[in-house]
Amino acid sequence: MSKTNLTEFKEKRVDLFNSLKIFNEPIIETFDSILETVAILVKCPIGFISIDNTRDQIITSSFGVNSKKLKVSDSLFLNTAKGFDPLIIEDIENDERFSMKAQRIDNENYRFYAGFPLIVKGKYVLGALSLYDKEPRKLTENEVRLASNLVKGISQYIEMSSELTISNKFSIMMEEIQSLNVGVRGNPFDHFQKFLEKGTAVLDLEYGIISHIQDGIYKVIEVTGPDEQITVGFEAEVENTYCAEVLSRKETVVFSNVGMHPKMCSHPVYVNMKLESYIGAPIIVKGKVFGTLNYSSRIIRKSGFSKEEVKFVEILSQLIAKKIETWQAVEEKQEAFEELQNSFNRFQTLAELLPVGVFLTSADGLAKYQNKRWLDYAGMNKEEALGEGWVQAIDSNQREEVAKKWAEAALNEEEFYLNIDFCNVETGEVTRTKTIATPLRNRGGNTAGHIGVNLDMTKQVEYERSLREATKDAQEASKAKSLFLANMSHEIRTPLNSIVGYADLLANSPLPAEYIQYASTLRSSSEVLLNLVNDILDISKIEASAISIDDRNFSLVELLEGVMDIFAWPAKEKGLELSYNIEDGVEEYFIGDSTRITQVLINLIGNAIKFTQEGSVRVVIKENSSDLPGNIHFSVTDSGIGIPDEVSESIFNAFDQGEKSTTHQHGGTGLGLAITKELVELMGGAIHVSSKVGIGSQFQITLNLKKGSIGPQQSSKHKKEDELPTKLEKTKKLKILLVDDAINNRNLINVYLKNENFDIVEAENGQEAFYLFKYEADFDLIFMDLQMPVLDGFEAIKKIRQLEEDKKRVRTPIIALTAFALKEDMDRCFEIGCDEYLTKPVKKNSVLEAIDKILNKNGKL
Ligand code: ADP
Repeated sequence: MSKTNLTEFKEKRVDLFNSLKIFNEPIIETFDSILETVAILVKCPIGFISIDNTRDQIITSSFGVNSKKLKVSDSLFLNTAKGFDPLIIEDIENDERFSMKAQRIDNENYRFYAGFPLIVKGKYVLGALSLYDKEPRKLTENEVRLASNLVKGISQYIEMSSELTISNKFSIMMEEIQSLNVGVRGNPFDHFQKFLEKGTAVLDLEYGIISHIQDGIYKVIEVTGPDEQITVGFEAEVENTYCAEVLSRKETVVFSNVGMHPKMCSHPVYVNMKLESYIGAPIIVKGKVFGTLNYSSRIIRKSGFSKEEVKFVEILSQLIAKKIETWQAVEEKQEAFEELQNSFNRFQTLAELLPVGVFLTSADGLAKYQNKRWLDYAGMNKEEALGEGWVQAIDSNQREEVAKKWAEAALNEEEFYLNIDFCNVETGEVTRTKTIATPLRNRGGNTAGHIGVNLDMTKQVEYERSLREATKDAQEASKAKSLFLANMSHEIRTPLNSIVGYADLLANSPLPAEYIQYASTLRSSSEVLLNLVNDILDISKIEASAISIDDRNFSLVELLEGVMDIFAWPAKEKGLELSYNIEDGVEEYFIGDSTRITQVLINLIGNAIKFTQEGSVRVVIKENSSDLPGNIHFSVTDSGIGIPDEVSESIFNAFDQGEKSTTHQHGGTGLGLAITKELVELMGGAIHVSSKVGIGSQFQITLNLKKGSIGPQQSSKHKKEDELPTKLEKTKKLKILLVDDAINNRNLINVYLKNENFDIVEAENGQEAFYLFKYEADFDLIFMDLQMPVLDGFEAIKKIRQLEEDKKRVRTPIIALTAFALKEDMDRCFEIGCDEYLTKPVKKNSVLEAIDKILNKNGKL
């Protein structure tokens, strides 16, 4: 920096000159010939072309003087180079503008001067073409114009050739870049040194740096330079580097003379390293600034940076960015691969520990991995089980099906569920598994295969089987229990039949009052016993889910009245007020099982009376508006002993009687409410109790009943005894076949009918009855017991009906007598051809009523 007094204008001019790099042979020659032409034109003996640079005026061409010795004492050409017009000094010694002596050149004095500025790009004066003559003189306008035109030619030539030079240089830069780009593989950081070196050479700068910038920190990742001032790994805050500007503008930044700018002189980089010139471009990877590519030098860059050089740096930075990007992608892939490998290793470690079979397959369904547990099921080693080998471990009965289903799941990329039985290829041991597999998707969402588990269900399957057997046993036991109870009921009913019947007869006999009392007690006790038998039979049927609900049209009013009649006497006896009400809006006719509804009401009202010593029992029927299901609501409210809270739930369990002390006092079986609850629920309703000890209880039940209509009503079962016929009215003697294996029962019926005009023929079993029927042929009526040895009643009836059909005989009415008191039994009787049905123990009136009904129907009376 020898000259410090240069004006900015001049500096620019000189920088331009430097950048043009015009010192080459062809230019000098051209300059020489133009100089000579102009000198001859203006008739001057000497002349030269001077170009200014910062250090000296360089004489590029001379005419008439020895250029090597050329010495110019004063420099008029410097003045020429300050302006844009020719400078003509006719007499140097007498010119007012310049008080100077004649110019001394090569020891000669020259007093005439003509100078023409060399102007390039229309604004920069590069230098001057100067001509001298010894004597003062003038130039014509023409001479000045012609000379100026010739000098312009020099300017144009300079421009042209400088452009050429620049384009040459640019193409050289590009070639350099090309050479960098070819064959650079692997880690790009290994090659960045070369990038930097090329850059410093092409740009003629000292340092080249590639930085990585993260979180405001600038880190040198590659560097080249004349010394070790900056090394790889050097870190600084971005704000303290020249890059700060690059970052904020996200574009290439150049400084050519940092020291020139007062503000920049305090910049840490300038303070520490005196870096005068700088060119930096951002390295942008995937749209984000990765770092910067910087070239710098302590030397002032007088010529600045051409746009080609800027371009060069930008291309280099893009190239570097590209390299980094590619490298990062490779790294990522590698990482992903390693991650995959790691995750597979982790998976495998886990899978080996799991107590279930685990397997992986490829997208085409071939096994790629099985864990130890899987191989144990199969009795195979790893290699054997891979691919399609696993199929051999499937039980041969299932193999084909499993392979087919598996192939489908793999093809359709579906989940797979199947119970698969493995058969160990070594030991033949069977492992029953529940196999579940699910498709594995890769990042692109495509199925990469399946992952699955085989849960060992052998023990569960075994357990389930034993459970099934146990359930079956239990069911059979339950059936046996039901059967036992049903048989017991029959066995108990048969003797009961006699007891009730004879007690009835006795009670109605003309005996002393004392005996009548005994007979009544006998009758009521046997009736209690009979109810108990009925309850046990009911609950056992319910437990076996063998009870069905009938749908018949009935009158709710009639039903309730019938029930109330039953309890009128017991209530009266205890001094209780028994009342009922059917609220407005309740339909009269419904379709439902009136027998079961009656049973439920008898139970509830019976309990209410049983557990109430004084006060009242009230029954109300209304439409259901409670939370309980169903459309009809019944309530039975008493003022009795009440039920403690803690037992209000358990009283609905079979054989549970609530508070124990109550049981002792009141008797009972604890079955009533259990049956009631089941029946109510079967009829679409529910039961609820609310009670206060010592105040009373209220049982609410709801039922879901279909609307009925006025029509044929089921005759009330609860007709009062006195309404029944006590004696049949008939015109002719009827012949009756009485079939029962129990002589007591036959005798009882004989006694019932002894006052009637009947001819009774007896048979002990179905076989005997059938023969009698076949050969005597004139029976008006048959009483047929159902449970009998040799041939039971069911079979006998079937044979009788068949015979009638075969022989075209008139149909003889049959009344079945049975100890089985269930609807199902009744249904069966009607199915095989009975006309009426009487449940043992039969009473006299019911026998007479049945005969009356049957014979009336048949027009025999
Ligand atoms: P049982 O009456 O034959 O014992 P239930 O199943 O009908 O069987 O009744 C179970 C128990 O519920 C009865 O033993 C009694 O403790 C209680 N209970 C039922 N109804 C009433 C009532 N209206 N008042 C008081 N306690 C009752």
